[in-house]
Amino acid sequence: MSETATGRAHDVVLRHIENSLRSGELKLGDRLPGERALAEQFGISRASVRDAIRSLEVLGVLRSATGSGPNSGTIVVSDPSSALGVALRMHVASHHLPVNDVVEARIMMETWSLEHAAAAPWTPDQLDDARRLLDAMDDDALPSQIFTLLDAQFHVALSALAGNVVVSTMMESLREAIRGYIDDAVTRRGGWDAAVHVLREHHRGIFEAVEARDGERSARLVREHIEWFYRQAL
Ligand SMILES: [Zn+2]
Repeated sequence: MSETATGRAHDVVLRHIENSLRSGELKLGDRLPGERALAEQFGISRASVRDAIRSLEVLGVLRSATGSGPNSGTIVVSDPSSALGVALRMHVASHHLPVNDVVEARIMMETWSLEHAAAAPWTPDQLDDARRLLDAMDDDALPSQIFTLLDAQFHVALSALAGNVVVSTMMESLREAIRGYIDDAVTRRGGWDAAVHVLREHHRGIFEAVEARDGERSARLVREHIEWFYRQAL
C-alpha cells in the first residue's frame, strides 16, 4: 500500500470512531472490535488499524490493555486533559509556546472560573476535596514536587465549581504544560521552605473567599497568587 493509501485507511478508521462516539453507538467503557475485525470491516491492513488506534490512544480517547482477561482489548476512555497537556508541553518545550503566555492564559481562565464559581449552584460538600488538599499541603515533610502536584489539584478543584468542563480541562492541561519548568525552577532556585509558607497562606485566603462566594476577592487573590509564584519561579 502506498503512503497516501495508508494515510487514507488510517483516516477512515479515525472518522468511523469519531462518528460512532458522536452518535452514541460507542460509549465510555465500550470495547472496540478486534484489530482483525476492523481491518476486514474497512478492507484495510491491520497495520493501518493499529496506527489509528495508537493515535487515538495518544489523544486520550482509547486505551489498549494486553492479555485475554475481561479487561483486555481496546476500551473507550476519556482523558482529554492529559492528551492536551502532553501536546502543549511538547510545544512549550520546543519554545513555540512561550511559558509566559501559558501563565497568562492560566490566569485568565482561573480568574474567570472563580468569578463564576461565586454564583454557581455548588453545595458546601463540593469544597471537601479542596479542603482535604489544603490540609495535605500543611505537611512539612512533603517533597516540593508532591506539593506542586497537590497545589495544581487544589486549583482545579476550586475552578471546577464554576461548572465549565472545558475550562477545567484546559486549566489542567496548561498546568501540565509547564510542570517541568516549575519543578526545575523550584529545584534550581532553592528557598522552597520560605516560599511554601507564603503559598499555604495564599491558598487559605483563596479558599475562604471562594467559600464566602466573594467572586471579586477570590479572582483577585488567585491572580496575585499565580503572579507571585511565577515571579519567584521563572
Ligand atoms: Zn497555588
